[in-house]
Amino acid sequence: MGNEAVARGFLEAGGGFAAGYPGTPSTEVIETLADVAKEVGIYVEWSSNEKVAVEAAYGASLAGARSMATMKHVGLNVAADALMSIAYTGVRGGMLVFVANDPSMWSSQNEQDDRYYGLISYVPVLTPSDPQEAKDLTVLGLDLSEKFSHPFIMVSTTRVSHARGPVVLGSMRPPRTGGKFERARGLTLVPGVAREQREKLVSKWEDIRKTFNGLGQFNRVEGDGDVAIVSDGIAYSHVKEVLSEVGDVKAKLVKLSAPLPFPKGFMLDALSGVRRVLVVEELEPVVEGQLKQALAEERLQLEVHGKDLVGLVGELTLDRVRRAVRRFLGIPYEESKLYNVDLQVPPRPPTFCPGCPHRATFYALRRAVNRRRVKAIYSGDIGCYSLGLYEPFREQDIIIEMGGSIGTANGLARAAREQVPIAIIGDSTFFHAGIPGLVNAIYNRAPMLLLVLDNRTTAMTGEQPDPGSGVTAMGDEAPVISIEAIARGVGVEKVVTFDPFDIEGATNALADAIDYVVSERRPAVAVARRACALEAVRKARKQKIQVPLYQVVEDKCTACGICYNAFSCPAILVKDDKKAWIDPSLCTGCGVCAEICPYKAIVKVVQEGKGWGEVWM
Ligand code: SF4
Ligand code: SF4
Repeated sequence: MGNEAVARGFLEAGGGFAAGYPGTPSTEVIETLADVAKEVGIYVEWSSNEKVAVEAAYGASLAGARSMATMKHVGLNVAADALMSIAYTGVRGGMLVFVANDPSMWSSQNEQDDRYYGLISYVPVLTPSDPQEAKDLTVLGLDLSEKFSHPFIMVSTTRVSHARGPVVLGSMRPPRTGGKFERARGLTLVPGVAREQREKLVSKWEDIRKTFNGLGQFNRVEGDGDVAIVSDGIAYSHVKEVLSEVGDVKAKLVKLSAPLPFPKGFMLDALSGVRRVLVVEELEPVVEGQLKQALAEERLQLEVHGKDLVGLVGELTLDRVRRAVRRFLGIPYEESKLYNVDLQVPPRPPTFCPGCPHRATFYALRRAVNRRRVKAIYSGDIGCYSLGLYEPFREQDIIIEMGGSIGTANGLARAAREQVPIAIIGDSTFFHAGIPGLVNAIYNRAPMLLLVLDNRTTAMTGEQPDPGSGVTAMGDEAPVISIEAIARGVGVEKVVTFDPFDIEGATNALADAIDYVVSERRPAVAVARRACALEAVRKARKQKIQVPLYQVVEDKCTACGICYNAFSCPAILVKDDKKAWIDPSLCTGCGVCAEICPYKAIVKVVQEGKGWGEVWM
């Protein structure tokens, strides 16, 4: 896998310190390194957010370690503040920021091209086109970073990060885990120093451009002709395949793996004798724009195509590239035929897993809001609990970015005075970027309820530990950072904790917290604590603990629909007579349906084994 190849490249380059925040499609880099960290003698961590990861990698680099920070595309927005300044101070041990873009937003809130960060920060960008290059460029990036004492960014996209392919391994250098930090003037960015560093930065950028002009296999030309196709990153693999399909066409293929600083000299050489050029790149026209600028500077007349033929929205597909390349080359293109397949795929609306404690929390929250007859505004966040957006809950009105729920609720608390803003956030997201919003709420006395759904893990990206999990990325025991203690520590007077599986208790706790917000006009915090169902059942299976099983007593069921409509557990199905039926292969034995059925028609038929309660904590 491309991300595993990055991890391997890090080890081959003598990497000794890696920090990241989980986010698809970047997560496997840190996971892979964490698995082998102790064996190979390196340090690996999940940081509380991407900015911290970059800062930590930078600190390690200043002490001589070779370091890497990893994240998904939106994470670089969080880390950008640190990155901009690190470009000014430079680094000591080589430092790479690995960021995976998510074109088509398969698991993200937006589509953004992080190559632009290279332009605004003056940090060089590498763009692998397959797993082999992902490994090789990691090594090159760390080597060049150290050579120029400058951070490097490597931008991957989903199809490189998650593609599987053969990778020729190199040997692993001894890890560089650190040494001694020595003071230097350029590290303290007060204005006088920053101005000096800015001069050095611009000059370094030009030096690196010279290196990128002669990067051999990574920026190269294949074939010949008076038309050219320029490709960057994964686009190269697609163009290559399309050219092999069309056969005997005279065209140059210009491959870029190091697009920024734009290798102007290399590119102008590559395009000598060329009349027309097509730039194929994923996401934004970064290379296309740089190329047009370079041609204008040199007063060269060349017909340049790019996004006009490739399109600007969504992930590059082979078909999209095929259409663009064929139109550019004047080769007839037949739209792919769509075949009607007589196959009825059952509708599968997005929903929480069976036994997910978030479902119970949303169920209790609605009861509490109804009981107190308040007009709630649900300010949501990024995580599994975003699924509260859908039926039957509809308890998410706004979702923007990590930690955004609390900041947004601050504004709503002031502007929508007749309503009660309820910010809903997960534990990992609270540690990531939620705390400053809570501090603001206390400082400015914003009357809002903060509901933290604490399942003690970063569930959405695959159960990575966070500061509340009690374990580190490398599997060592860690202190459990208490969300309640943080809330009290910043001055929240009303902090309630509840078990979401105790629906009545959860409803009472939430109603109590809402009362406080309404009567005192101050923020309150409610913490819902239960393990992720996937994690709990996995643990139970591993420890051979019997999972309990619930069933519907047919005679008692009145077909009221509360369990399958209002609570909506996917393990509960509706029979033709509208009575409920529990699918034993889906049921995780959480038991909440037995509690909410008003007719006591759901009963436990298989008792849980010893230790069942503990796997849910
Ligand atoms: S809540 Fe109880 S009575 Fe209503 S449909 Fe479900 S099992 Fe039947
Ligand atoms: S016990 Fe009930 S609510 Fe829990 S997973 Fe099974 S069917 Fe769903």
